[in-house]
Amino acid sequence: MFKKPNRKVDRVFLHCSASDVASHDNVATMRRWHTDPKPQGRGWSDVGYHLFIRKSGQLESGRPLEKIPAAQAGHNTGTIAICLHGLDEPNFTNAQYNTLTALCVEINNAYSGNLTFHGHKEVAAKACKVYFYKDILKLDQFGRLGLSGASTRPLAHAAHNERVPDAWPTIRRGDRGEAVALLQRFLMIKDDGIFGPKTDSEVRNFQSANGLSRDGVVGQMTWTALIGTDRIEHFGE
Ligand SMILES: [Zn+2]
Repeated sequence: MFKKPNRKVDRVFLHCSASDVASHDNVATMRRWHTDPKPQGRGWSDVGYHLFIRKSGQLESGRPLEKIPAAQAGHNTGTIAICLHGLDEPNFTNAQYNTLTALCVEINNAYSGNLTFHGHKEVAAKACKVYFYKDILKLDQFGRLGLSGASTRPLAHAAHNERVPDAWPTIRRGDRGEAVALLQRFLMIKDDGIFGPKTDSEVRNFQSANGLSRDGVVGQMTWTALIGTDRIEHFGE
């Protein structure tokens, strides 16, 4: 449960840990990196981020929210800093994006929408540019989240900047096009947009493994299962 700190906050900054190493996937490691004496660490009093989101989606607390973060050089005052573990964009997980969205909606509501959300890269040349936070949170051009809630859009697709059709088309062997390419990315096979024998057999295997009828026809139920599966965490690889 998010509780507003007793200091002015008008911006939330999003970060990545810049590591895909599993043993780094915890706030304790970030704390070590930030508090170890130089040159190994940064010699700070505490971890720079307030909140840390593991690949599992688990949320961990870092620096107390009452304290100003050490996260965006020159832009720390008035901010909350959230870090997702990860480096390469395809390795961030849907679970992380779901936690991030829920958290940001909660923060946004606590401030009645009177704060904005930003990526670290907006105030630094190269840092933390790897996930599509604007799409994930459905931010407007100013970084506002809006009070309607961000959790209505299928996150996995938003996360990967895909254009998602309003109605999922039913597709089968012989079909071609964007929907087929999207399917192939879900299945982690070459996304040439051509529903050939390889795609057909992957679909049937997926259907079998997910208790669906093994008909090779990708309709609503198969799409839903594809969206729900962990495979989507690697979408785009
Ligand atoms: Zn950062």
